[in-house]
Amino acid sequence: MTRAIDNKSKTILPGATIGILGGGQLGRMLALAAKPMGYRVAILDPHHDCPTSSVADVVVTGEFGDIAALAEFAQACDVVTLEFENVPAGGLAFLESLLPVRPSGRVLETLRDRIAEKSFVNAAGVETAPWAEVRSSGDFTRASRLGFPAILKTATLGYDGHGQARVRSLEELSAAFAKFNAPCVLEGLVDFQTEVSVIVARSSVGEVKVFDVFENHHVGGILDTTNIPASIPLEVQQQAQRIALELAAKLEVIGLVCVEFFVTHDGRVLVNELAPRPHNSGHLTIEACRTSQFEQAIRAVCGLPLGDLRAHGPAAMANLLGDVWQVSQPNWAAALETGAKLHLYGKQGARAGRKMGHLTAIGNDALEVVKAARAALRT
Ligand code: AMP
Repeated sequence: MTRAIDNKSKTILPGATIGILGGGQLGRMLALAAKPMGYRVAILDPHHDCPTSSVADVVVTGEFGDIAALAEFAQACDVVTLEFENVPAGGLAFLESLLPVRPSGRVLETLRDRIAEKSFVNAAGVETAPWAEVRSSGDFTRASRLGFPAILKTATLGYDGHGQARVRSLEELSAAFAKFNAPCVLEGLVDFQTEVSVIVARSSVGEVKVFDVFENHHVGGILDTTNIPASIPLEVQQQAQRIALELAAKLEVIGLVCVEFFVTHDGRVLVNELAPRPHNSGHLTIEACRTSQFEQAIRAVCGLPLGDLRAHGPAAMANLLGDVWQVSQPNWAAALETGAKLHLYGKQGARAGRKMGHLTAIGNDALEVVKAARAALRT
């Protein structure tokens, strides 16, 4: 297992095997960035036909808490990173007893639970949406002092609008909490001007770099488009970058951390959530930046020099959800004629709301191009 590690600098050199926990689209794009640099890739995922399986060198099929599967996976790897933060703590501790896991189990413990995450952010002196814990019906009265409407979110395992409900009264809060049947947070609704995100990379040898600010538009709780440059004033962008760098340093994360923000009409930036991995809002970096978020993650976890993150110019990304497939086979040729670049994740089963791929364009009209390309899929 130590064949490709430079013991003096602890750098994981090309030729080594990078393990990825999770084989979804983020794992696939991580693997696609690692392979040209000469790394081998092993993955652990519960599904043998997951999106990363066709591009990985080693595929171990098993649950993230399955010790036998984790042992087989660890045997194949020199370092482990992840595309999915909901790996059980016991599984991570087992892996950490065998080899470096980056980001560490301690970072994941803080970020996989919204209560721990928001407590961490507020303790760092950084503002979030107003929030309150809801662990039992006894918490309703105190939490409802935030006012209605509000958003109830499960503390763990939420994604893409799943595990979230808008509630307008104590009765709706009670009904939503009964449905989730799990610890939650109630959040005051933020009347934001826009949403942005910042991705920070910190390497295992202490180097730190930050991407430009991404501007994000969500539809139904799911990211719809991202564009750079963000349309908010430069000083607000710098403030978001400063906060993201500070939180990444406090977490001592090795790898990537994405910080999502709400930007209010009066220019305040409130942290929404953090993800210790590549993020959907960073997909445009594949075409738009000198180093993509995926290559940067590989460099960071391997202790290699971090790449230059400057963008070539304006760029945009539009997600392709399973909805695109609902009427007929998408018209790929028409989409590509717009000049947009196509990424498909190789997923079987195009369910509504499921992320199947994305489109990217660069240039001054990038956002219009990706939207036109997506519309062309239905022609
Ligand atoms: P989340 O999974 O927490 O990132 O929420 C998904 C999306 O729902 C966010 O990107 C926002 O567009 C919206 N949202 C979540 N929380 C709030 C809030 N407190 N106020 C307003 N919109 C929210």
